[in-house]
Amino acid sequence: MIAQNVEKIFKQIPSHVTVVAAVKTRSVEMVNEAYQAGITHFGHNYVQEAASMLPQITFNATWHMIGHLQRNKTKQALQLFDQIDSLDSIRLAAEIEKQAAQLGRTVPVLIEVNSGEEDDKTGIEPENALELAQFISTLAHLKLVGVMTMGPRFGDPESSREYFKKTRVVYEQIEKNSLPQVSLQYLSMGMSNDYLVAIEEGANVVRLGTAIFEEQK
Ligand SMILES: *Cc1c(COP(=O)(O)O)cnc(C)c1O
Repeated sequence: MIAQNVEKIFKQIPSHVTVVAAVKTRSVEMVNEAYQAGITHFGHNYVQEAASMLPQITFNATWHMIGHLQRNKTKQALQLFDQIDSLDSIRLAAEIEKQAAQLGRTVPVLIEVNSGEEDDKTGIEPENALELAQFISTLAHLKLVGVMTMGPRFGDPESSREYFKKTRVVYEQIEKNSLPQVSLQYLSMGMSNDYLVAIEEGANVVRLGTAIFEEQK
């Protein structure tokens, strides 16, 4: 089932789009199946879940933190994840810098923008994103590589379009500023319900859970 789902997704989307499998609540077996089907990027929402799953994983992949990261979990997160896609505050950026320096590594990060959905409080407000980008550009152990947004998870996919447009504007605004050490490459938007709309609006990373791991009608 997972193999068929992944095959169908790969057929639908252009080859420059990266699929990150959102693996919250899924088993190691399911994650293995997704890898066998060709998925090489995986996203966790919780540090704790990643900490129990990753020791059981035997393949090589890129692991993304896609959920809200609490500052007191930063050190553990950096030991588990290759990349933090959900950076949403100056304080968190400063903490990642501190821990990354201690570990002697440079961490690729995406700024998570709150594109405006009422009940979604994750992400930095669009009007504060540039300031966060400027701050990140001064940190030696962070590399800003993109922008992410959540948007609505359910409902008419068309209704997500405005959130994606707003996020793309933020991405372009950061890009225009040509900040030192910053070269944006990834625009991560769209989930199972609306990834095709997201790609139309410029996403080159989509984060999919349901579409990969559940029976599709
Ligand atoms: C759950 C989740 C996804 C995937 O959602 P689906 O609707 O299952 O595709 C993507 N991104 C984040 C941050 C998530 O929490």
